[in-house]
Amino acid sequence: MSGGYCNQVAWIDLSSKSVYTKPLDGEIKERYIGGRGFITRWLMDMVPPSVQPFDPGNALIFATGPLTGTNVPTSSRIEIGAVAPETGIFSSGSAGGSFGTKLKRAGFDALVITGRSEKPVYIIVRDNHVEIKDARRYWGRDVFETDRAIKADHRDSRLSMACIGQAGENEVLITTIMIDRVRAAGRGGLGAVMGNKRLKAIAVYGSGSVPIHAPEPFWNACEIIREAAVKQFFVKRWENGTYGNLTRYQGVGALTSYNSRKTTFEYIDRISATHYNENYRVGRRACVSCPMPCWTTFVIQSGEFKGFFGEETTATTFKEMGARCGLHEMDAILKAHSDLNRYGLDTISTPAVIAFAMECYEEGVITKEDTGGLELTWGNRHAVIPLIEQIAGNKGFGAQLARGVRICAQTWGEKTMKYALHVKGLETVGTDPRGQPSWGLGYATSSRGACHMRAYANYESGINNAPGGMDEKTMIRISGTTEIGKRFSTTGKGKAGAFLEDMNAFGDSLGICKLMSRAELGLPESLVDVLNYATGADYDTEGLYRVGERISNLERIANLQRGITPADDTLPERYLHEPVPEGPAAGQVCDLEPMLNEYYETRDWDRADGYPSTHKLNELKLDRMGKDIE
Ligand code: SF4
Repeated sequence: MSGGYCNQVAWIDLSSKSVYTKPLDGEIKERYIGGRGFITRWLMDMVPPSVQPFDPGNALIFATGPLTGTNVPTSSRIEIGAVAPETGIFSSGSAGGSFGTKLKRAGFDALVITGRSEKPVYIIVRDNHVEIKDARRYWGRDVFETDRAIKADHRDSRLSMACIGQAGENEVLITTIMIDRVRAAGRGGLGAVMGNKRLKAIAVYGSGSVPIHAPEPFWNACEIIREAAVKQFFVKRWENGTYGNLTRYQGVGALTSYNSRKTTFEYIDRISATHYNENYRVGRRACVSCPMPCWTTFVIQSGEFKGFFGEETTATTFKEMGARCGLHEMDAILKAHSDLNRYGLDTISTPAVIAFAMECYEEGVITKEDTGGLELTWGNRHAVIPLIEQIAGNKGFGAQLARGVRICAQTWGEKTMKYALHVKGLETVGTDPRGQPSWGLGYATSSRGACHMRAYANYESGINNAPGGMDEKTMIRISGTTEIGKRFSTTGKGKAGAFLEDMNAFGDSLGICKLMSRAELGLPESLVDVLNYATGADYDTEGLYRVGERISNLERIANLQRGITPADDTLPERYLHEPVPEGPAAGQVCDLEPMLNEYYETRDWDRADGYPSTHKLNELKLDRMGKDIE
């Protein structure tokens, strides 16, 4: 392949402070493409199940795809992966901003980081050069300060930064790695892996460009995707940012409120897109190369936080920090969300564990004595904001929550298990699968725990081209039926779930954003051209889809080797057995079993031991140990 890749990976050992570069071998490119595919392959090869997340042998990997840093819309993505301390299994996640683009322009496809430094360090990457430097003066600073200080010290505002805040330094298990201040990746606690390695930041700038095999047809193909993406999604859907979805979740009874005691929020008008846009929003932001600015900036105009400016408002802001915790004062939600980014805390898992603790407090399982005097009542801003600081500092009552929902529930006793909303140790997002069942299947089968982004199903969002929905032709293509558009039908959803997981697995490997890599845009077909023009490869649709399937299956084998069993492909008790008490989804539970059966059948996985069949492994050129075979 003559384009798309830099053909250079930096291997960095923080224990010995050594850096060496190696070329990318052709086979890994062909079989795994890049990003998430590379990460899964390298983790399988380098980090056996005996290596624990906080062992120096755990590898923290930053990997781009062949489209990262090119003209393809949304192609700024960097994928970050490691064995995650919160879950004990592989986790990887994708972030935008400009880090991926600049890493490619600096001449690197990936950074593979092992070992542990004795003293805090940071890494600086510039045009084909990698250096490990002393970070003691940055240790203890938050994400925003670190970003500012490293740029100032290098007199270079062009640097893109991946860094951790105090939460990562303190090895809090619900941390992410922050990119360019407010983009994040690494659910399951990858920020803590970075902190454990005493790696404060990676700063990157490159002045080169990504080689393209056939520039002219490539640019034309990019333009076709750009037009389709903007027309279909930006114009129709993202005008209100991703937070415009809140009212839709409310409308179908899928908005997690009060830790999923309810699935509608009575204060929806106070956290709606309309209220935010009219009273707080001051600007829109996009990642590099993206024509669809889906996040926004704000200023708080009055009250306790008057004059406070913040970035990165998304659906997560209002779903997780708002309805999930019963908080409806928008200024407090915005301040709290901004604090999560500042400390480098996971913006899903942290509100999730706070909401869980609130329910335990209401039920009397924990009391004011346990919380160090905090009144942990629903929506209490005076408890939530100080608690976030405690969690980041791993101190006080916050030190308990810093371990995530699963460990808290194990510690606080059997009674709390039913309030603990996690799968495989990772907290669910604030979309309740009793109102939107496809997300329930996605939580149950996602390879990194309860993640909505592995399948990112949107076929229940509204049929016949309703905003955010999937058209009938696409439904048939991914599942063979339009039944999947009916929310409470289970037919076809297992098949659709597997298709979308595989599609997103290669999307995460190409280096593009999930808000664009969608089946409705004709994926995987529409990406075959840009990939082939960029790289000089000759993938066909089937081949590209097969790469995604290979990655999904390899992640599966990795999970089985780390102790996951089919019994873990399930949902929290509340979603399965507690009917929704009110609203549009009243009386519903998530009917997981039929969807799961169809999913296993589609995957050709054994229901008893969870492994792919021999036939499937042969098709994917993998063996049962997860090694590549001819
Ligand atoms: S759609 Fe949003 S998250 Fe995705 S690349 Fe564009 S701005 Fe970034």
